[in-house]
Amino acid sequence: MAARPPVDTAARFLPPLGQRSLDRLRAAAAGCTACPLHATGTRTVFGEGPERAPLLLVGEQPGDSEDLAGRPFVGPAGQLLDRALAEAGIDRTRTYVTNAVKHFKWVQRGRRRIHEKPGRLEVTACLPWLEGEIAALAPVGIVCLGATAAQALISRSFKVMADRGEILATSYAGWIMGTIHPSALLRITDADQRQAAYARFVGDLAAAAHRLARQSAHSAAPARAQSTEAAADGTGRAAG
Ligand code: SF4
Repeated sequence: MAARPPVDTAARFLPPLGQRSLDRLRAAAAGCTACPLHATGTRTVFGEGPERAPLLLVGEQPGDSEDLAGRPFVGPAGQLLDRALAEAGIDRTRTYVTNAVKHFKWVQRGRRRIHEKPGRLEVTACLPWLEGEIAALAPVGIVCLGATAAQALISRSFKVMADRGEILATSYAGWIMGTIHPSALLRITDADQRQAAYARFVGDLAAAAHRLARQSAHSAAPARAQSTEAAADGTGRAAG
């Protein structure tokens, strides 16, 4: 049987080592064509937030609003996230928000563009951008919003409803947690169930806020070293 061709990834679009600031990464990602999604999304939607943000929030992919605006989490799910962060005691201006996949994947239904979940090949292709952001930020903690981000950064077997809310060790940062994506809350039609799911989401974020408050800048230093090593190996993947 013929060997499968290697999966193309964004690694070949990364700036040279030592030149991977968030601004340089963002500029380079704008020209990424490593997977077919560059042809369907309007533009690359890179992460945004302060360069020294202690908390990194990672979603799945930009939605319709984000694709048009060129900014992550500006649509209805982003607005719900903002509200939940505030209720959990997390200062949104001290977070960096991004997605596991930087282009919008969608299918046409009538006049609407409907979100379509990115596949594993697309997530793998896009991972060097996310890992580049992590290396540049060296965040204290990471919260994965939804299964796609959690499976990219925590474990392929991560199941949101079973594994959410746990603070876990990671080589990417001081700690990592997975929880539900706010867009999943918007899809719950029963008002009581939606309110209960939202309260649980705020509870997960509050646990992250509590951990963040306890984490000192000192404990983030080893994570920065590991992230730098990850960026240095060419693929950006951190060891372990
Ligand atoms: S989704 Fe990611 S890997 Fe695919 S073209 Fe866009 S930036 Fe590149």
